[in-house]
Amino acid sequence: MRKPFVAGNWKMNKTVKESLALVRDLLPGMEAVTGVEKVLCPPFPSLFAVSTLISGLDIGLGAQNMHWEASGAYTGEVSANMIKELCQYVIIGHSERRQYFAETDQTVNRKVKAALSAELIPIVCVGETLEQKQAGQTAGVVIRQVRDGLQGLTSVEASRIVIAYEPVWAIGTGLASGGQDANDVVKDMIRPTLASLFGENIAQAVRVLYGGSVTGKNAAEFFNQSDIDGALVGGASLKVDDFLQIIKAALK
Ligand code: PEP
Repeated sequence: MRKPFVAGNWKMNKTVKESLALVRDLLPGMEAVTGVEKVLCPPFPSLFAVSTLISGLDIGLGAQNMHWEASGAYTGEVSANMIKELCQYVIIGHSERRQYFAETDQTVNRKVKAALSAELIPIVCVGETLEQKQAGQTAGVVIRQVRDGLQGLTSVEASRIVIAYEPVWAIGTGLASGGQDANDVVKDMIRPTLASLFGENIAQAVRVLYGGSVTGKNAAEFFNQSDIDGALVGGASLKVDDFLQIIKAALK
């Protein structure tokens, strides 16, 4: 049984004060839902304040990025150990990081390993661009991102990760994938790749989320699929009613 999982990626939104206000509004509704792993991923400056607000509650905290080195002369970067004092999760390889900050499967792989060494749970993002989809390259891209991003992990390490399938053309566009189409990618590309790397048991145990324009209205379409275990939510995670509706829908 894979426990349903919903994470909100706030991206570069919300000051510390605004973050606290949003969490206060979300708390009653989030606490009311049990049986779903619920995770908030605010920007770095808000992590400490949010961690104090949700301390002791059944709500996880995640960072949106990290560096693979443990410490040193990397101005502007944040290490896994720094995040670990506040968070249990970290998003790695989001398409916006790949697109605007030149992240590659190789840097994703280094970050995933560093996160796991610090006992953080990496939420590893994969997904094809519109051009790649139109060129019939979805399978090649997604399989390569999973294989190279997770290269060198042990089976035990692999069993701890969460994967988010996020077609780039669906992120922030309002053009969500069809539930069946997203499920096909997870079932026919992502899980078989995990199986070839780590064995069938791990492939069936790893949670795989869908991300890309998920809303309260369309969430159930994804959660009703056989191989989709939850959602990584961007825009709608900043809207209290929408995000709570998504969390409730994850209890399929
Ligand atoms: C995301 O940022 O991971 C995302 C899926 O964004 P949105 O839900 O806004 O498409």
